[in-house]
Amino acid sequence: MSERLLEVRDLRVSFATRQGTVRAVRGVSFHVGAGEILGFVGESGSGKSVSVLSCMGLLARNGRIDGGSILFEGKELSPVFLTTREQQQQRENELRRLRGGRIGMIFQDPMTYINPVLTIGTQLTEGMRAHKPLSRKEARARAVELMRLVEIPDPERRMRQYPYEFSGGMRQRILIAAALSCDPKLLIADEPTTALDVTVQAQILDLIRRRAREAGTAVILITHDLGVVASLCDRIAILYGGKIAETGTTDDIFYRAKHPYTRGLLLSVAARRADSAGAGGYLPSISGSPPDLLRINSGCPFAARCDSAMKICRDYMPVRRTFGKGHSASCWLYCRDSAAEIAAVQDRKRGDARV
Ligand code: SF4
Repeated sequence: MSERLLEVRDLRVSFATRQGTVRAVRGVSFHVGAGEILGFVGESGSGKSVSVLSCMGLLARNGRIDGGSILFEGKELSPVFLTTREQQQQRENELRRLRGGRIGMIFQDPMTYINPVLTIGTQLTEGMRAHKPLSRKEARARAVELMRLVEIPDPERRMRQYPYEFSGGMRQRILIAAALSCDPKLLIADEPTTALDVTVQAQILDLIRRRAREAGTAVILITHDLGVVASLCDRIAILYGGKIAETGTTDDIFYRAKHPYTRGLLLSVAARRADSAGAGGYLPSISGSPPDLLRINSGCPFAARCDSAMKICRDYMPVRRTFGKGHSASCWLYCRDSAAEIAAVQDRKRGDARV
């Protein structure tokens, strides 16, 4: 097994809103090792982006990490263990050093992260020199090499151009070049290919794959697209209602899925493919709405949409059951003994209350 580069345990994240507290991540645990590609899949609001980005200190102002451990290369990055202002400041400085250095990030909208008034060459070289002891000349040479790597034609000339002179696909490739410029140990890609045409999408995914296989970079890919995770990821975590519903290898998820939500997703993809020629692998819809994280109760978050829901599902959070190495799901269907025990306790309590 690859060494654990990032290990997150029992992460909990909430957001303060006018309507109340939104518990966006409710006890999520995951890990990723060198050369491994881990896919985070879920609907909007499932907690997939917040789980990963909060570890990198990229929460919105109204967000906070309420609990859990975040170990990167064995070093604790969770703010919950820090008590003084000075420690908090040290953590922020450490995260700033890591982002763009040992941790590279690619986002869906490159223009949010590319400065429109600086040339691409300036942005690439300055980013590198902030993290590495390179002369201007060395940084330029490396920037040209990176632009070639991401297949930007005529890179020497392109270095002098501004972002508006690049197409959307090219800007995304520039963002990838910037993310790779400091040889990151971990690459986080949040919907990196959404909004790109199929050809560019394939090029970018191939680049990410080669980076993991050839340079041993660990990758966390956050996506709605089941087709992308099937072709790229070694392991997958399916998120629902701020929790991991099921996790396992790509084969576990696609051929041995256990959780009703995972099965529903796969069935809907299959039905859509059969239905319409050329349908992609985007996350299909399952009837019903995702849970309201402002009002979430103590039961299974999928209970309102689940055809197999039992009474216990609405009252108690399901227990995680392991099916094989690294394959687990949180569902009462696989814990019937525990479910029966809890039901018996409930009945006894009701009986006692009546006496
Ligand atoms: Fe469905 Fe119950 Fe399993 Fe939740 S715990 S997925 S409601 S069967």
